[in-house]
Amino acid sequence: MTPPQIAEIDSTSHSAPLVAILGRVDLGVNGDMETIETPYGQVEAVMSSLGGVPILLISRHGKDRLPPHRVNYRALVAAAALAKARRLISVNTVGSMSPIPGSFFLPDDFVEFTKARPNTFFEDRATHVGMSRPYCPQIQEALGHGLEKAGAAASRGVYVCTEGPHLETPAQIRMLSQYGDVVGMTGYPEVVLAREMCLCYASLCLITNQASGLAEGPLSARDVGETTERLAPVIRQILEEAIVRLPVERRCSCHRALDDAHI
Ligand SMILES: [Zn+2]
Repeated sequence: MTPPQIAEIDSTSHSAPLVAILGRVDLGVNGDMETIETPYGQVEAVMSSLGGVPILLISRHGKDRLPPHRVNYRALVAAAALAKARRLISVNTVGSMSPIPGSFFLPDDFVEFTKARPNTFFEDRATHVGMSRPYCPQIQEALGHGLEKAGAAASRGVYVCTEGPHLETPAQIRMLSQYGDVVGMTGYPEVVLAREMCLCYASLCLITNQASGLAEGPLSARDVGETTERLAPVIRQILEEAIVRLPVERRCSCHRALDDAHI
């Protein structure tokens, strides 16, 4: 089913340069809570602004703190599109599989080892969106600018998405490190769903730890949460610098993702 109310959105409109931000970081901004009805379920989001730019803050895990494999990714991405956001910036926490973790990471590409997540809006029609450049270059450039202005160390590379919710074993990390640089549980399928919705999408990854199989001591989910909380002001600065820099016009090809995707 292709939800008509979503498919008919004019993705080239410049009238509402709303930026959706997906994650669970407390950016310390106030706003109005909204419930957005989508064909996939309700999504709660906060309308606010950052640097004078309207933003829609969408909590990935919601008030019930759903685990990554149960997050309703289709509803989240559909909510961004229905709110008429043209751009979706995702904040994801990851573990580093490289020897020296930096603070932040911008994925250029991904591989995934998930198992049971709906990964398309087009269940009844063969639709193959291109993934030769999975992340929007305009948002990536803006995030790079934001990182620089915030003085934050960052690296780029390949994101590996696992199903979770358990952390990885040493053997899994040995295998996964053949494929990518960081490992997380939330970056897929939202990256693909955003492309299907013709949204611009990029991810700002926060490296919270060395991947569990490489860490010297035991890794706890609480450690990950504390690191995220500690770096929240930096994340806010990076995002603010980035979205202020984004031009109104989308000069990338993300809004044409469906032009040749249907068979
Ligand atoms: Zn784009």
